[in-house]
Parts: sequence; structure tokens; C-alpha cells
Amino acid sequence: MKFITCSVFILVTLIWTSSIFGYGVCTTEGGKEIKWQNPDATYLVNNSGGPSGSIGALLEGMQPWTDVATSEFVFDYGGTTSSTAHGENDGANIVTFGSLPVGTLAENRFWFRTSPPPREGEILDSDIRFNTYYTWNTTGSSGTYDLQNVGTHEHGHSLCLIDLYSGTDSEKTMYGSASSGETKKRTLEQDDIDGITYLYTCPNLPSRIEGTNNEYDFLQDAYDNTPNLGTFQSQATAFVENLLIDINKTVYVKAGYDCSYSNNILKSTINGDINLTDGMLTLESGTLEIQ
Ligand SMILES: [Zn+2]
Repeated sequence: MKFITCSVFILVTLIWTSSIFGYGVCTTEGGKEIKWQNPDATYLVNNSGGPSGSIGALLEGMQPWTDVATSEFVFDYGGTTSSTAHGENDGANIVTFGSLPVGTLAENRFWFRTSPPPREGEILDSDIRFNTYYTWNTTGSSGTYDLQNVGTHEHGHSLCLIDLYSGTDSEKTMYGSASSGETKKRTLEQDDIDGITYLYTCPNLPSRIEGTNNEYDFLQDAYDNTPNLGTFQSQATAFVENLLIDINKTVYVKAGYDCSYSNNILKSTINGDINLTDGMLTLESGTLEIQ
């Protein structure tokens, strides 16, 4: 087993890397990806030393990763703890506020298996600490550091995405430095989404006929195969297609689902047109945006 630290530094470190991907993943010395065996992780929080509203801000920092529809990964909140353990392989993933070297805003320390195959690289324990040398806020106010902003970044390390330092990475959640008053890491950029999707790809296709296992890559195929008065569902992702409603039937759509089709709290997007020449398509729930 091995132990790794990932930190967010305040100062911009001028390390220029080149990669064909816009994200980076952790690997073992043998080159195997480091990740959770199951696509979920539960975190306990010890909010002692944090600003008021810490727990809410930390949960907000987890949510964007859970909400990526093209990934099946889910972060869960396990409640509060009095433990101050940081970097201990104790089977509990814990968020704490405490002392860290000056210059480090926060860090994620995690343990993973170095052997045997095929479990090499499996994450066993991940702890996050915020440095109380710095002043934290939950509002994005200037002069101090936004907990949700840095928390979203640290939970990216939990997945195991790595810091990025190229100038072209500066808007991404996984950019390896943060400023006071900054909130831009709260929302994921497409490369952050691509990173979690690469590691924890959703096993379900992005549209399906409700109540069946008939799943499709395109809304057109879902529409074509849905019977009269039937319903198809779409995940919260972008569909690049033109949708033609041309069959003499009435079909309902429920949009914005997560990977498991259990919640539709988000938005599906069509990068294209919807043309209706026959029949009817009715949005029954969720948001379907045409761009
Ligand atoms: Zn980092």
C-alpha cells in the first residue's frame, strides 16, 4: 500500500506539461490507474476549525462530480465525526481542518493497493484537510478562500484526477492553484467532466425507453422505437443530432437523468434542431434545451 499527497498550492507553479488529454489521472509506478473499485465514496466531516456553513459548502463541492451524467461515480456524505485523522488508512474518508505547511491550501492524502493484480491501484482510503493557516469562507467573498471552490478541486483528487498547471488549464477545476475570492473551480469544465467520465464511465447509454433495457446513443433512435403513448428518457448530457418527429404517434420524453436513470434533476441538451412533421412529442419532466 502506498500513500500519496496531492495539494493545492497558492503560488502558480510553472510546470508545463503536454498531453493529448485535457485531464490527468493518477497511476501506480507500474502504470496502472489508481481509482476506486466501486464508483462511490463516502466522506465524514469534522467541521471543527472550519467556517460556519462548512458542511453545506463541502457537500456542494462534491455534487458537481456526482451530477456528471456520463459518469456513474457518486459521492456520499456519511455525517460528522470527531476524528482528526488525516492520511491514516483507517477505513474512513475524513474531511478535517488543521495544520498544513504554509503555501498549501488543502491536500488530499490517500492510500491505494500496490499489489496484487488485478487490485493494484485500488483506492482504500482518502482524507482531505484544509489548512487553518488560511481563512476560509463559504460565500466566495474576496480576501479569503472559498471552501466549496477548493473542496470541489480536492474531491477531484479523490476520484483520482491530478493537478494541471498549464496556462491553458487555468479555468479547470483541476488547475493546481487557487486564489482568494476565487469560485471558478465550483463548476466543472468539459475536461474535468471528461476526466471523471474516463475513470468511471456510465455503463448505461444516454437514452432509453422508460421501464425497459432498450438503450440508445441517440434520441432519434429512442423516439423511433418508443411505442405510441410511450415515454423515453434522456440523461443530462449533450446529444449532437437533429431530432425528426415524423411518425403518427404521441410520445413523451423525460429529460435530465443521471447515469442510473434514478433522478432527473438536471438538463439534457440537443446540439441541433427538433423538426416536427407528424405526431406529437411532449416533455413530461426535466429540462430539454436546444442549442
Ligand atoms: Zn490539487
